Amino acid sequence: MKYDAWFVAADDPAEKYPLTEVRYYSQSGGLLDVEHDMTALRSRSAAEWKRLFDGRWMTTKWPYGSGVWGKKEWVCPTVADDNIVSMFEGGTNLFWAERLGGDLGVGDLWIKLCGNSHTGSFKDLGMTVLVSVVKQMIAMGKPIRAIACASTGDTSAALASYGAAAGIPTIVFLPRGKVSVAQLLQPIAHGALVLSLDTDFDGCMNIVREVTADDSIYLANSLNSLRIEGQKTVGIEIAQQFDWEVPDWIVIPGGNLGNTAALGRGLLMAFDLGLINRLPRIVCAQSHNANPLYRSYLTGFIDVSPIAAQPTLASAIQIGAPVSVHRAISVLTRFNGIVEEATEQELADAAARADRYGLYTCPHTAVALAATIKLLARGEIRSTHRVVVISTAHGLKFSRFKVDYHERQLANVVSHLANPPMSLPADVDAVRAAIERRCDELRPGTPQPQGTRM
Ligand SMILES: *Cc1c(COP(=O)(O)O)cnc(C)c1O
Repeated sequence: MKYDAWFVAADDPAEKYPLTEVRYYSQSGGLLDVEHDMTALRSRSAAEWKRLFDGRWMTTKWPYGSGVWGKKEWVCPTVADDNIVSMFEGGTNLFWAERLGGDLGVGDLWIKLCGNSHTGSFKDLGMTVLVSVVKQMIAMGKPIRAIACASTGDTSAALASYGAAAGIPTIVFLPRGKVSVAQLLQPIAHGALVLSLDTDFDGCMNIVREVTADDSIYLANSLNSLRIEGQKTVGIEIAQQFDWEVPDWIVIPGGNLGNTAALGRGLLMAFDLGLINRLPRIVCAQSHNANPLYRSYLTGFIDVSPIAAQPTLASAIQIGAPVSVHRAISVLTRFNGIVEEATEQELADAAARADRYGLYTCPHTAVALAATIKLLARGEIRSTHRVVVISTAHGLKFSRFKVDYHERQLANVVSHLANPPMSLPADVDAVRAAIERRCDELRPGTPQPQGTRM
């Protein structure tokens, strides 16, 4: 069976383009989406798809062991295997946070650890698809010199790595001083042209759009729906990891809102093709300091306006003019969704609390956890529900956030669970005395606010 997919204008189903055409907007200036030949996909039964996907899961058979390319027919069937640029993305741990869930009052809490990935964030899921299609375009003779993106840190890390693996030059636009050291170093190490601009993400985005108007530099931001096609596997994977059972809730942090849209689209495809028989509810969690979707939600999505995003510890979602806002609203409407927000204090508390149970929580994942805590308190999420929180990046990318928290250096945040190291002389008696003073407090995973004792 020949499977096929193409770009379609979001505002006109008759306007279509091949995936290998350099094109980001419809004739009327709207976004393009990827559409699949669903008739061809229906030629396999749900049971056959499940067997195929389960048989490929985490094998080393190129390229199907990748969580994304294991679902190639649903993602990007037209790219030749030789052009696939994969680093075994996807297939990340769905972690049963049993003790954290117990503490929060929900028995069945799971964290989908998308940060346990090649470049440390879920952005790998989409970038493997985009860079593979560009490799295919170059093989077809298209004059593409480089791939570029504006980024709050993780997109540029993924682009630079996948570009380097493929031998394709990359250019990244970063808002100066607004990404973590690790996120800045990743594209530097991979040899990308790193342009650090004195603006925010939204300002970088405006400039990269101008620069890529020349078709020789390909635009890798998530307005490009090739990325959404890869990212949509996360929802399908969650269902697969539960033996095709659907959780009650999936909670996801949102900035530019491509990932919220992707989560919904993957689940809808699995629903359409009969692999799952119901849909979860989706919660999109935003930082209070960058909450345009939350504000829109409060108006019933009637008013959809950009805002000037304020600084937030959740720097990867400090976005005031999310490009996929309408994609996300349509998903949230279909999934009976909720939008919640978290303050800096709430996200810092949530991260520290989860870390005490063995997680290592990035600030964005913490926004999603804080939203979960609020929805539990409001009785929207019940203690008997199965809840999946999507962890979008690895905490190791955000060491400064952790250091500042534990040194009580975060502005306007009280570090209730600060645990700074004790400095002692190299003296056994002093060490014994310190252990005696502290060891009663050290029941692992039982957070005890320590005030300002140390
Ligand atoms: C990009 C990113 C997000 C937000 O994803 P959007 O698609 O922009 O909504 C959340 N967390 C992390 C760690 C990210 O890198």
